[in-house]
Amino acid sequence: MYLGCGGAAHIFRVFNASELSGFTVQFNNFRALGNGSNVIISGAGITEPALKLDGAFRKISVRGSEVIAGAGSMLKDVIKKSAAEGLSGLENLSGIPAAVGGAVFKNAGAFGSSVSDALKWVKFYRGGKEYKISGKMISASYRTGPVKIPSVISEVCFSLAKSSKDKILRRIKEIIKMRMEKGFIYKNGTGCIFKNPAKISAGKLIAESSCSRFCSGGVSVSPLHANVFILGGDRRSEDAYALMNKIRARVYKKKGVYLEPLVEFWGVFGK
Ligand SMILES: Cc1cc2nc3c(=O)[nH]c(=O)nc-3n(C[C@H](O)[C@H](O)[C@H](O)COP(=O)(O)OP(=O)(O)OC[C@H]3O[C@@H](n4cnc5c(N)ncnc54)[C@H](O)[C@@H]3O)c2cc1C
Repeated sequence: MYLGCGGAAHIFRVFNASELSGFTVQFNNFRALGNGSNVIISGAGITEPALKLDGAFRKISVRGSEVIAGAGSMLKDVIKKSAAEGLSGLENLSGIPAAVGGAVFKNAGAFGSSVSDALKWVKFYRGGKEYKISGKMISASYRTGPVKIPSVISEVCFSLAKSSKDKILRRIKEIIKMRMEKGFIYKNGTGCIFKNPAKISAGKLIAESSCSRFCSGGVSVSPLHANVFILGGDRRSEDAYALMNKIRARVYKKKGVYLEPLVEFWGVFGK
């Protein structure tokens, strides 16, 4: 797993549309795995199958100002290809370690942009059938994409704007630099653990509740960003879960706000 902790998962790789269709007929209790950057699996693992898109789902192609990406491709590769073609619209998302399916599912975002801003259409499978939504049918909000499990996003189209390659590459560099300064690219760091409540940042609430030095086992609050955890060499998923609850309790006590996790904990925790 991306975050390097947790137990076993039975991974089912599917390589093409007919395999994916078959999988969604065979199983309705499963997990869809992107790059695993927003998922922490319990030490005991998970019992349901974890679907991973591979093969044809990793293809990225360009048609005019549209980029069509398989949900198994990496967001960074889509951004790289778009930049090479002089297509702008995804630069602010540079540095998010997501697969395209995971990015669309979570409506990942940064620096005022979200994945959904550039989406033209989304294809997904459910119960063996392929569906396509486009335009106004794509309803997405803060860290919530247009598709819910047990639907599996298979392919998406980003509608981008022609721009200068140099300008795009400069913006990508700028974004990566800002992410490093803000602590969003930090060795062994997670992304944001909690959602931002309306109009306030979760990081600010955590820092103001004096949780910045909190730790649990091998997991601690990042010195650069209070809403990010650092996973030490002796990391355990259960430590991350315990730290999350410790912070939630403290912020609730100090600020009266019950923070909602953004990171997903899969498996059995808290027993
Ligand atoms: C260092 C770091 C920095 C980060 N920075 C940001 C940031 O700036 N902004 C931000 O929004 N997030 C950020 N994140 C969090 C994470 O990268 C995003 O939530 C991302 O969208 C998750 O993508 P993933 O492919 O890793 O998905 P996963 O973590 O594998 O899965 C996330 C969710 O998507 C579902 N999913 C995955 N693929 C599919 C599919 N094909 N069909 C249906 N559902 C699917 C999963 O079931 C799960 O519910 C960061 C994480 C890290 C570790």
